[in-house]
Amino acid sequence: MNSNEIEIHKELKKYFGFSQFKGLQEQVITSILGKTNTFVIMPTGGGKSLCYQLPALIQDGTAIVVSPLIALMKNQVDAIRSLSSENGIAHVLNSSLTKTEIAQVKKDITSGLTKLLYVAPESLTKEEYVTFLQSVPISFVAIDEAHCISEWGHDFRPEYRNLKNIIKQLGQVPIIGLTATATPKVQEDILKNLDMSDANTFKASFNRPNLYYEVRTKTKNIESDIIRFIKQHKGKSGIIYCLSRKKVESIAEVLQVNGISAVPYHAGLDAKTRAKHQDMFLMEDVDVVVATIAFGMGIDKPDVRFVIHHDIPKSLESYYQETGRAGRDGGEGHCLAYYSYKDVEKLEKFMSGKPVAEQEIGFALLQEVVAYAETSMSRRKFLLHYFGEEFDGEAGEGADMDDNVRNPKTRIEAKDQVVKLLEIVRDTKHIYKSKEIVFTLIGRINAVIKAHKTDTQSFFGKGSDHDEKYWMALLRQVLVTGYLSKDIETYGIIKITEAGLDFIKSPVSFMMSEDHEYNESEDEAIVT
Ligand code: ADP
Repeated sequence: MNSNEIEIHKELKKYFGFSQFKGLQEQVITSILGKTNTFVIMPTGGGKSLCYQLPALIQDGTAIVVSPLIALMKNQVDAIRSLSSENGIAHVLNSSLTKTEIAQVKKDITSGLTKLLYVAPESLTKEEYVTFLQSVPISFVAIDEAHCISEWGHDFRPEYRNLKNIIKQLGQVPIIGLTATATPKVQEDILKNLDMSDANTFKASFNRPNLYYEVRTKTKNIESDIIRFIKQHKGKSGIIYCLSRKKVESIAEVLQVNGISAVPYHAGLDAKTRAKHQDMFLMEDVDVVVATIAFGMGIDKPDVRFVIHHDIPKSLESYYQETGRAGRDGGEGHCLAYYSYKDVEKLEKFMSGKPVAEQEIGFALLQEVVAYAETSMSRRKFLLHYFGEEFDGEAGEGADMDDNVRNPKTRIEAKDQVVKLLEIVRDTKHIYKSKEIVFTLIGRINAVIKAHKTDTQSFFGKGSDHDEKYWMALLRQVLVTGYLSKDIETYGIIKITEAGLDFIKSPVSFMMSEDHEYNESEDEAIVT
């Protein structure tokens, strides 16, 4: 160890009581101390806060920490204050402070006492604050939850887009971006928007070796399937995510009636009930919380043993975050998602009211979820690939921890059928959604087909050697591989791509996985 390394180890012990750095912390801290722009991508629980807190504490000047949630900022400030005898060592600057409080914050910063100043992005737009911050030494600006800057992240906040301009006004200060959810696309957006392509980037692995990933086809028996699953995990803590409040209520009720201790949690319940249900779960007065995605932010229960998705999530990033609440203590964590293509179509329909750019993004993110559900490869490999990581691990690293690896799906050659399907899409000239394409293949008439006189065409019924379920499954798998694409604006018109036309010309082997069914599931509104 050189003298600098000894120094930061000493400071780590002095302030935080830890004898060792976790993961990439030491490298990150060295980069920050070197006054270089730094980008940190670590999963939740990876120890990101310390990466900027320690350099802030040991450097001259005040570090500005931008964070989107007031509650989280308050927690962090309290934690820092508990490390020191000086309250002024950390402050939050926001509009809820009184004039006297603001004066105190400014005084502590000016005197050099304040090492960490937490601000919400919208506070930073206030002229008065910016002018003040220009007059004091700033060690660096840390941007927590940096994915909020990207429309491709799971929590886009437009105020984050302004940050770079404001930071520029503060002079030459290094920027530290931190996030727990960064696909390559989001990473690129962060670096671009913060204008820091030169940043030292540190990325920890997102692999969670103790989590088991499973996808089951959603059938009408889903409730009894869930009950059976929970009874196999008797007395263990778990979370069930649903997309609608109505479903949350009905599943919680079904579980209760079946002797499982469960409570609902969603934004439609009053704050008192929500807090009560959350506490009951944390204190183990109930085993299961049935919730919308409103539940989970900041929940740190180490022994959640399963996370069930009753409905598929809107993106793989949300899925990763939500399943990440299982097995925090390193013990078992079973992540079970129920999948039905009807749910996908419901989500697509739900997006139709949104602005076009948002629709396009939502649609693309959803396609990745479909691909995950449909894949026959290792789910861990698939998820990590989505996060820009090539997983090549062994059993101890989770290589055998998913349904596809343990029970490989039966796969059958479908080259000729893919050609048939692609030809039908080409020959019907991009007027049909999946249902009519499949009907055309099997030779079934409905009003839409009649209106277009497709039933009089020579290719009508060309795929009647297989049934509707088969073609629907094949169509979805072909969509995932990119030979077909689904039009965004028309909500589901299927088109053939250049790659699809090439496939017709020179077909290659196409191994289709056999087991997904096409299920009907009841319609309902989606609200969280
Ligand atoms: P993140 O922000 O990445 O989700 P946190 O900063 O909240 O993670 O850290 C997660 C946990 O790890 C905290 O309980 C923190 O005290 C602990 N931790 C951080 N650094 C170390 C370390 N060097 N040694 C031991 N524990 C650490």
